[in-house]
Amino acid sequence: MRVLAISDKVVPSLYSEQIRQRVGEVDLVISCGDLPYYYIDYVVSMVNRPAFFVYGNHGRAVEYWSNNQAVTGPVGAFNLHRQTVQEGGLLLAGLEGSIRYSRAPRFQYTEAEMWANIARLAPGLLLNRLRYGRWLDVLVTHSPPFGIHDQPDRAHTGFRSFLTFMRLFRPRYLLHGHIHVYRRDTVTTTQYLDTQVINVYPYRILELEPATRASRAASGVHAPAPEPGFPEASHAHDEQSFSNAS
Ligand SMILES: [Zn+2]
Repeated sequence: MRVLAISDKVVPSLYSEQIRQRVGEVDLVISCGDLPYYYIDYVVSMVNRPAFFVYGNHGRAVEYWSNNQAVTGPVGAFNLHRQTVQEGGLLLAGLEGSIRYSRAPRFQYTEAEMWANIARLAPGLLLNRLRYGRWLDVLVTHSPPFGIHDQPDRAHTGFRSFLTFMRLFRPRYLLHGHIHVYRRDTVTTTQYLDTQVINVYPYRILELEPATRASRAASGVHAPAPEPGFPEASHAHDEQSFSNAS
């Protein structure tokens, strides 16, 4: 599956007719949060493929369009938060928001609250396990896991519960945003157990394949987590542009 993943920043070349040349044919669009709905809808309508999203910590309950129409989410994308879905053979699940760092009412969670979100995923994951022999392929989040691509300030600290999630449910990929990337040498792809953790900011074209029995057996060999600064895995090739980074 060729996946266009977007997050956190409106990329002018995607928010224009150039998008088709820029991304080519994709099978799926995934938004990892903190994007205006009009942008997600534009991208989805241009590539004309199924789309899924989670809200970031800056998610808004309502966004007003220029004609004063109030919208509560992207029209053309499915909210993946606390949901499990199957799309084109890929098993997806989503968890929105960031760690709680202020009194804002929505889209921020304590670790305990994130565990409650994870618990809501459990029946769907169990069904996947019974049906397909695996819990899921792709976990879509806004926040990174704790200690992987996250930052020391409170608002950008990742979730420890995501580490446990990866240990228990062994997704092949975890796609996140939230951490803005300004330097070319910033690590944005890290292998953790069976999971490739990928920061998709501001966008990435990814080849995501469902886990096969062979790949699961092979990936089970490297149990210990790599050290920080582990070289980027080659599977997810990076086509992100830094030309707009400030
Ligand atoms: Zn964020």
